[in-house]
Amino acid sequence: MAWETIKKSQHDLRVTPNLEDYDHTCADFSWDAVRRALDGLPAGAGLNIAHEAVDRYVAGPLSGRLALRFLSKRGETRDFTYRQLGSETSRFANVLRRLGVAKGERVFVLAGRIPELYIAALGTLKNGSVFCPLFSAFGPAPIRQRIAIGDGRVLVTTAALYRRKVEQLRSVLPGLRHVLLAGSSDEIRGLPGTLDYRLLMDEAEDRFVIPPTDPEDLALLHFTSGTTGTPKGAMHVHQAVVAHHATASYALDFHPEDVFWCTADPGWVTGTSYGIIAPLTHGITSVIDEAEFDAERWYSILQNQRVTIWYTAPTAVRMMMKAGTDIIRGYDLRRLRFIASVGEPLNPEAVVWGREAFGLPIHDNWWQTETGGIMIANYPAMDIRPGSMGRPLPGIEAAIVRHRPDKSVEPMDEPGTQGELALRPGWPSMFRGYLNEEERYRKCFNSGWYLTGDLATRDADGYFWFVGRADDVIKSSGHLIGPFEVESVLLEHPAVAEAGVIGKPDPVAGEVVKAFVALKPAYAPGEELRLDLLGFARKRLGAVVAPKEIDFVAGVPKTRSGKIMRRLLKARELGLPEGDTSTLESE
Ligand code: AMP
Repeated sequence: MAWETIKKSQHDLRVTPNLEDYDHTCADFSWDAVRRALDGLPAGAGLNIAHEAVDRYVAGPLSGRLALRFLSKRGETRDFTYRQLGSETSRFANVLRRLGVAKGERVFVLAGRIPELYIAALGTLKNGSVFCPLFSAFGPAPIRQRIAIGDGRVLVTTAALYRRKVEQLRSVLPGLRHVLLAGSSDEIRGLPGTLDYRLLMDEAEDRFVIPPTDPEDLALLHFTSGTTGTPKGAMHVHQAVVAHHATASYALDFHPEDVFWCTADPGWVTGTSYGIIAPLTHGITSVIDEAEFDAERWYSILQNQRVTIWYTAPTAVRMMMKAGTDIIRGYDLRRLRFIASVGEPLNPEAVVWGREAFGLPIHDNWWQTETGGIMIANYPAMDIRPGSMGRPLPGIEAAIVRHRPDKSVEPMDEPGTQGELALRPGWPSMFRGYLNEEERYRKCFNSGWYLTGDLATRDADGYFWFVGRADDVIKSSGHLIGPFEVESVLLEHPAVAEAGVIGKPDPVAGEVVKAFVALKPAYAPGEELRLDLLGFARKRLGAVVAPKEIDFVAGVPKTRSGKIMRRLLKARELGLPEGDTSTLESE
């Protein structure tokens, strides 16, 4: 079929969008109504994410429908119907129960996108325990810190990841009682202090009755980074599922026959809220690819799996743009009807490119770990303004606020004025705290608003436009990285006296991590030391978090109170004006 015909026929596949009339839907919307549309635990025993995602379908007409299809790196396919997912997740819940893992205790998973991760996540929720994903590309330092802060009781991982990253940490993580290893028994044998995931699962019963769950019971713990201090564990409750379900309906336009592909890793919040939970609550099929980005592979997945809705990220879109439009022509992508993207600014050229390449625009949407679900989006029924994040979801009140001299904030109604993006608290997936950090949580709220830490504007028609972060956190390939975490590891190297870390703009990754390092007197800068430092950081932090570039400097600029002036490092790196340096004390 000619390319033009393919593009035209795509439009024939369009369904009536779930959100057809924005103003009406917003006016009629209530979270209570969404909650009522969900099932709830039998006999009024509460609300549990895993019941809404799995068990409600097990006994019904959708039990035989494909829930999850896993594509392995090696080309194998593993399918789970809703019924099979029900059995496997019940087995995992029974494993936890047998191990004595209690309600509210944390179950960490460190794994790539393999079935065991998804089964452990949902089985953990069934047991009333708390699921906490760890990105598999993390090195030992971020893993250790997160398990320690989260007081992890159980870790599910693979034998290979365990050997490389976790074994060395066992003595410093005494609270971590059980480590379950997925993989072949041969690999696992000989690793003391671990349990064989498969053996435990085989011994477990495939029926499990979810205990009563209060909608406000803790369900998910997602670590995120700030400018300073340790990573923060954002706490989400079972009630979040109300938002996962509703937002997916409006911003991702799920319909019963859809095949959905969310390319995000569950190590980050998108990969959990929309890569695991939301599509299951809609009873649709999800495709999960274990492999990393590869343009040809991705196009063949879209084609062969007959993907209808695709949720991806700007870095991936930019990598596809780089690979060129010509390769797409070899694929039949007629099933694809909706593309959305999240995690970092989606440049207008990418939106336009989507139209050219797929005959479909790419719909940007915005949210963050703390919000638990999509807050602002471009919807299928509305015109996209390329470069804009779209308009708030029904049920969400967003504003641009300014900080008053008395430290309170107020919304600014004048269109186009830049300020901090704020949300009115109260939506179901709002985080309920940072684990054990009440003060840090409290500081996120002011004058009745939740402050997002993002700078943005709103135009006269209510579309929001991202400007940048109000703080120094780094977004690299969609991953949020705290500069402090990177600086702390660099300081552990014997040669390093001071370290300052910034996000350096990059045409594909958005930003890359760049470090400025001042050496101790006994050390001299040089290529060998630079490579040693890069390798040291990579080994400790993992490839996503470690700096890609290191520059040697005589001193790192600091304020009088000793805070690193990353803003100044960045301005110098980019050759921009240094701005106000009155607080500069030393460097
Ligand atoms: P995370 O908590 O890791 O999901 O990161 C959330 C942050 O990513 C937000 O506060 C924004 O700074 C950024 N972000 C997410 N979505 C978008 C978007 N559509 N456009 C621009 N920035 C985004």
